[in-house]
Amino acid sequence: MRHDLTSTIVAPASGQGGAISLIRVSGKEAHTVVDKLFRAKNEDAREKAGAKGFRIVYGEIRDGGDILDDVLVSFFVAPNSYTGEDSVEISCHASPYIVKRILELLLKCGASPARPGEFTQRAYLNGKMDLSQAEAVADLIASETEASHRLALKQMRGAYSEEINRLRERMLHFASMLELELDFGEEEVEFADRSQLRLMVEEIKNYTDSLAASFSYGNVIRNGVPVAIVGKPNTGKSTLLNALLKDDRAIVSEIPGTTRDVIEDTIIIGGILFRFIDTAGLRETADVIENLGIRRTYQKIDQSDIVLLLADATDSPELINKAYRAISDQLVDTQKELILIVNKSDLLTKEELNQLKNSLTCRDSRCIIVSAIKGTGIETLTKYLTQYVSDSPGDSSALVITNLRHFDALSRCSESLSRVLESLDNDIPEDLVAMDLRQAIYYLGEITGEISSDEILGNIFRNFCIGK
Ligand code: GDP
Repeated sequence: MRHDLTSTIVAPASGQGGAISLIRVSGKEAHTVVDKLFRAKNEDAREKAGAKGFRIVYGEIRDGGDILDDVLVSFFVAPNSYTGEDSVEISCHASPYIVKRILELLLKCGASPARPGEFTQRAYLNGKMDLSQAEAVADLIASETEASHRLALKQMRGAYSEEINRLRERMLHFASMLELELDFGEEEVEFADRSQLRLMVEEIKNYTDSLAASFSYGNVIRNGVPVAIVGKPNTGKSTLLNALLKDDRAIVSEIPGTTRDVIEDTIIIGGILFRFIDTAGLRETADVIENLGIRRTYQKIDQSDIVLLLADATDSPELINKAYRAISDQLVDTQKELILIVNKSDLLTKEELNQLKNSLTCRDSRCIIVSAIKGTGIETLTKYLTQYVSDSPGDSSALVITNLRHFDALSRCSESLSRVLESLDNDIPEDLVAMDLRQAIYYLGEITGEISSDEILGNIFRNFCIGK
């Protein structure tokens, strides 16, 4: 991993399409490099732009005597830029030809191509943001829903880092007090009040535990809630999926086995992403209920948080109850949510429907009567799904972690703190207490990047897009 901050890097920063493209340049020579191809309409404006802060200048990009494009160029003077370095952003017309030519010219004039995430990495290395904020930048770009956007934005704005740093400071204070005691060797001195230390460690451990616990919710918000639709063929699984998708992406027909090529459908309900697992396999179960037990169905269930078991309202209650029992037995000891959906309610009279409802073992709100074809009951289902997610730990004001790396660090921090508590209970020598406390501090530091290794940085920034 190269941490070379001396080079001047360049990359296109906007995606395909649109009318305008953005090219980003950052580094000591950013202004000089751009000036080799940029001619401002107003020289005075260009001069002012180099003085301080940031400023937009209108002009043209030239390749020798040829005019390539009319552009707006934003000049940023360090440290007032995203990367904290002298930077330039060229807004040109979005012709792939123009973008390519401008990039070639910039490279020819001394810039080098940026690696994925290198602008954000520089922002981190130059102290413009910490590591968890840099990670949130990638999450923000990738966010597809209101909920994932909210969490990424919060993290990017540093709510989380502030808290972590505050805790770290408090622990550092105690660790240095303990270490001071060690300096006094055999003398009986106690700088770090043990009962205060205990209280603090308990408080911080509670906090890191609750943050770590928020990961299952955060992960779901970031990556979507996995949902499996199971049930024997022809119960209306594809029709239900279509009703949820409100378009015709899945193919519905009278012939079982026609849903193909749809590996996973995602659908946003109430600002939350739901991932319907392996919808291509919807039809592959044989048509007897015993075959619900086939491996594929269980694999699907394994990967999901929510299982929608679809039943046909015209089937006997015994058959529906049997299928329900088969799946709910499978889910004992898991956190998975099972919802029984009785479909084709339009084929029964009100009376028959009531009779059926009374004969089902599943009678609470986890039993939803629908007609996928008519769309009745679908809203009850979507409400149930969103409610299920928002009932999970972490409301809109709570801090929620979405990142596996942070989860690992918090869990390790918590383990170290448990050892500190254990040592305090058992009068273990302070050098060992101090060591565990230092470990806890180390893990918290990993989250914000106070402590980082090339490997960690490499893993994080490799997943960024070019130009970010
Ligand atoms: P899958 O095999 O479980 O995916 O079932 P499909 O979604 O392909 O549906 C099988 C058949 O049941 C099709 O002919 C659908 O039109 C029909 N169907 C699905 N939902 C309903 C419903 O709510 N009411 C009625 N009357 N027919 C339905």
